[in-house]
Amino acid sequence: MLQIDLRELALGPVETAGELAKDDPLLAGLEVGLAEAVRVGGRLQATGEERFYWHGTLDTRVAGECRRCLAPVSQAVHADIGALFVRGADADDDPDAFALGEDATLVDVTPAVREELFLAAPRYVLCREDCRGLCPRCGQDLNAGPCGCSPTPDLRWSALAALKDKLRG
Ligand SMILES: [Zn+2]
Ligand SMILES: [Zn+2]
Repeated sequence: MLQIDLRELALGPVETAGELAKDDPLLAGLEVGLAEAVRVGGRLQATGEERFYWHGTLDTRVAGECRRCLAPVSQAVHADIGALFVRGADADDDPDAFALGEDATLVDVTPAVREELFLAAPRYVLCREDCRGLCPRCGQDLNAGPCGCSPTPDLRWSALAALKDKLRG
């Protein structure tokens, strides 16, 4: 469960464990493509009057295309999450806290998971660190071997070489 009944905290910290399906509407709009559900674990404890601290983790895999060769890739994502929930008007004093209504009886940790997932998800993925990508001329996947295109001379270097010749001459 990702919702904790605050009355349970009277007996001590409460363990949280649950999953958010990869198409859960609560995760909509993140622009993070998920390859599998988000597994969430953690514990919630009261840290004072009307203040509740959740320490948790999330684990999932994001799906994307290799930035260089466009092959489909999935990459593991793990994040540690620390989130403070504050009930009532005091929440205004703490801009980083998640506000709970005056009469709240539940903490839902989903907004903290959503925020952390957004921060932790890679903005682009590579199929492997040394992916050679596609030939910019013929589009062949260079991981499969060299294509028939002749190597393009780098214009910056030839300009520099010409300059050197000039200085020498
Ligand atoms: Zn690649
Ligand atoms: Zn080529």
